[in-house]
Amino acid sequence: MSNVDCQLVIFDMDGTLTRPNINFDEIRAAIGLDGEPILEALAKMPPADRARADAILQEFEDRAADGSELQPHALEVVAAIRESGRPAALMTRNTRRSVDIVMRRHRLDFDFIRTRDDGINKPAPDPVLDICRHFRVAPASTWVIGDYHFDIQCANAAGAISVHLAEAFETLPPWSNEARHIVKSLLEFSRLLGIRLDTESRPILPGA
Ligand SMILES: [Mg+2]
Repeated sequence: MSNVDCQLVIFDMDGTLTRPNINFDEIRAAIGLDGEPILEALAKMPPADRARADAILQEFEDRAADGSELQPHALEVVAAIRESGRPAALMTRNTRRSVDIVMRRHRLDFDFIRTRDDGINKPAPDPVLDICRHFRVAPASTWVIGDYHFDIQCANAAGAISVHLAEAFETLPPWSNEARHIVKSLLEFSRLLGIRLDTESRPILPGA
């Protein structure tokens, strides 16, 4: 990362660290919502409807977490960032519970995890600002990677460096150009940060 100003890296979870496996349209249909963002729609519901909708959402999220698969190089990129002395954080609109499932399943570890249970969510800048405050790092030196518009909006509103992970898109969505950088893989992201992943060239220790 020699000549890149990067002191902190924030990852989105679904579709960024993990392969996209949540179908939001399916969740909306099960709850009975139109095209609106799910959490915002739930926040406007009367308590009884909200409890029912929340249970449906959590069931989908838990199932997705249970069946989650990592994006190629996810473990190596997170490890390499942390080995270089930069904290790696996770921000997600999921619950802490489903994040815990994903972390355990893939033996992932982050220096800080910001879930929807912890305050105002993306696309507001709050998650990025909270994480920056925690590490006392300026947003301008913070890189944020995500696969959805909310990640880019959140990063940009906080003054961080936004990166769109566009591996799932054949043609880029119109909002993609709001991101400072666009990459097709986590490997490409690591190169952008100046990190070389040399796991294959590492000597194998005797007896390891
Ligand atoms: Mg995502």
